Amino acid sequence: MHVREGERRIESIAGDVRKALGDAALQAQFALIVGAKNAIVSESQLRTYECDGLLGYRVRPQIVVLPGSTEEVAACVKLARELNLPVVPRGAGTGLSGGSLPSEGSVVIGLSRMKKILEVDLPNRVARVQPGVINLDITRALEGDGWYYAPDPSSQSVCTIGGNVAENSGGAHCLKYGFTVNHVLGLTLVLPDGEVVQLGSRAGEPDALGYDLVGVVVGSEGMTGIVTEVLVRVLRTAARTQTLFATFPSTDEAGDAVSRIIGAGIVPAAIEMCDQLAIEAIVKATGVDWPLDVGALLLMDVDGVDAEVEETAARAYDHLRAAGALVIRAPRDEAERALAWKGRKSAFAAMGRISPNYHVQDGVIPRKDIAPVLREIAALGANAGLRIANVFHAGDGNLHPLVLYDGRIPGQEQIAELVAGEILRVCLRYGGSVTGEHGVGHDKACYLGEQFNADDLETMQMVRAAFDPERRFNPEKVFPTPRLCGDKPGAYVAHPAEVSGEAGRG
Ligand SMILES: Cc1cc2nc3c(=O)[nH]c(=O)nc-3n(C[C@H](O)[C@H](O)[C@H](O)COP(=O)(O)OP(=O)(O)OC[C@H]3O[C@@H](n4cnc5c(N)ncnc54)[C@H](O)[C@@H]3O)c2cc1C
Repeated sequence: MHVREGERRIESIAGDVRKALGDAALQAQFALIVGAKNAIVSESQLRTYECDGLLGYRVRPQIVVLPGSTEEVAACVKLARELNLPVVPRGAGTGLSGGSLPSEGSVVIGLSRMKKILEVDLPNRVARVQPGVINLDITRALEGDGWYYAPDPSSQSVCTIGGNVAENSGGAHCLKYGFTVNHVLGLTLVLPDGEVVQLGSRAGEPDALGYDLVGVVVGSEGMTGIVTEVLVRVLRTAARTQTLFATFPSTDEAGDAVSRIIGAGIVPAAIEMCDQLAIEAIVKATGVDWPLDVGALLLMDVDGVDAEVEETAARAYDHLRAAGALVIRAPRDEAERALAWKGRKSAFAAMGRISPNYHVQDGVIPRKDIAPVLREIAALGANAGLRIANVFHAGDGNLHPLVLYDGRIPGQEQIAELVAGEILRVCLRYGGSVTGEHGVGHDKACYLGEQFNADDLETMQMVRAAFDPERRFNPEKVFPTPRLCGDKPGAYVAHPAEVSGEAGRG
């Protein structure tokens, strides 16, 4: 017995020594490209990279490398290929779907050192930036001249442009201004074989010829290569922005108000909704003076020149009133407006004030169905004995239900995950989608087969294979696999648009 235990100990020490020798050799090879301190193999430092914002999943990568230029990225990609290592690109690691979760034995290529704004060209309304630039830093660099970068994820003070490109990130003001894909004109991309290519140009869409390859790469979740430069469109700051708060007895009336406004052809810059539980969390965390005795709140921005703002705000006001708003008011001053938006943008973090843990979901539904879908979501929570808060981009129909749970209670995290999955099925039943802006990543791969049939998925894999035939980049992400999802990954159900004959798959 003692001898066996001793053997096992020796085997495990030998395994550790082999790994240490292997790690040192690997580190030495990548260090030749990026420098010793930027090739990380120490267990304690690797821990920083073992997950993203999907905190329930952790995998320790084999090595993390932090290149400082396109050339270094290309050399790291070529070496990873020679060594047959999976590659996981990483920005700031704020993704919520496990997009930058390492794969077993992978090299994580972190872009955090590439954070320069390389060029600002206001006559052409573009800026050229490295992928590790923080989203908000572009606006900070331009606002003195009256310009800004429009896509504004709530994580914009920490997430990177490279991550935004990979996820096609959105934000509150994407209702009027569009998602990341509408603001990227060109890219430098290191392909999975290490070749460096330029896609798009500053000439913009009217002059672009051929296939829209920038459009293919944006939203491809790090599976087409590593973005090492981004040419972004920048916009003139609106002459005036008017913010409105409206409170409602319940999410039914608030949902109705959103449908009326959008249905009337009014395009506010943003319409965000918070339900009662979300209001409670935000008030506790940020000190906004929102009333706690209401069922829902809409936060709306209307922008443009004076006459446009006045007309749009007046029309929106009438629809809010007709839908049953309790109180409609404007912020008293700029400080109150800024606090309101800060409250909205820190809503996820604010959940910590009302629950030890939460699972953020991200699904899309037709805007007209906000009220019934929120009722179904509430019923799912009640049946599972869990509270669900809702704070979301209502104008886009992009829901973010936050399933609250206590990780200290055995089994509750798993129940929360199941409820979050059922929420996606509700979105699909209403003709929506399993993700709006947080991506599929690791988290939702098993649900993709419920939105798309086998032919659709195969077609998407063919596009992926055109860039990465070896499937080396972010393997086992996005697409359902038997290992992740069992032999039969999710039953495909015809989309309501197919049933109604609006869309076909022929
Ligand atoms: C509090 C909070 C609020 C959020 N709010 C929003 C929101 O309003 N809207 C929204 O859309 N998202 C939101 N997110 C999600 C997240 O911030 C975005 O997905 C963001 O774009 C991720 O950027 P990142 O730099 O953290 O990328 P990471 O999380 O590091 O990576 C995301 C994906 O991009 C890939 N990737 C990263 N860099 C590159 C590159 N240079 N080249 C190729 N692939 C790359 C990774 O492999 C991964 O698949 C929020 C997250 C948090 C934590």
